[in-house]
Amino acid sequence: MNLVLSDETLLGGSNAPADLCGYGPVPAAIARELVSGAVDDERSRATIRRLYARPATGALVAMESRARLFPRGLAAFIRLRDQRCRTPYCDAPIRHLDHARPWVAGGATDVGNGLGLCERCNYVKEVTGWSVRPEVDEKCSHAAEFTTPTGMTYRSGAPPMPGWSVRLEISEMEIAVQMACSGLHAA
Ligand SMILES: [Zn+2]
Repeated sequence: MNLVLSDETLLGGSNAPADLCGYGPVPAAIARELVSGAVDDERSRATIRRLYARPATGALVAMESRARLFPRGLAAFIRLRDQRCRTPYCDAPIRHLDHARPWVAGGATDVGNGLGLCERCNYVKEVTGWSVRPEVDEKCSHAAEFTTPTGMTYRSGAPPMPGWSVRLEISEMEIAVQMACSGLHAA
C-alpha cells in the first residue's frame, strides 16, 4: 500500500491529512501510526521515497529513485534538460549521468541531484577536492555549484528550453518614462 503525506505531517509538525492510495484521505495521527507500525514491525518491508511538489500548487512533479542507476525516463529528461556537459566551460556531449552529491554519500537518484557530464569531467569530479552542490535557483531552473581542488567555485545552470526568451518585468513607471522620452525625441 502507498501512503502519501507531507514531511510536516510525518514529523508531527502538521495535522494535514495523508492520502492512502486507493482509499482516500486519512487523519495525520492515523498516518503516523501506520508509519511507525510499519517501521517497528520486523516483518514489514516499508520504504520511504521522497516526492517533490510544486510549491505554488502542491502538484506532485517528481519522485526520487532508490536505484543507483537513473531510470530510463529520468535519464532521458536529464539529458534533454542539460543538453551538454554541465561542468562550467566544458561543452562536450553528455556521456554519463552523474550524482552531483555521490550516491554512496546519500545523494538521491533524482532530477535535482542528476547531472549530465562528459566522460572526462565525470572522472575528474571523482578526484579529491572536487565537489558539486545542486540547487534550484530563484527562477526555478536547475543550477549546480562546482568547487575545484583550489577552492574556486563556479556555477552552472541548465540552459533554457529552445525558443524560451527571458521575460523582463517592466514597471508602469518605466513604461511612462519611456513614452515621455519617445515624445521628446519625436519633437
Ligand atoms: Zn565535460
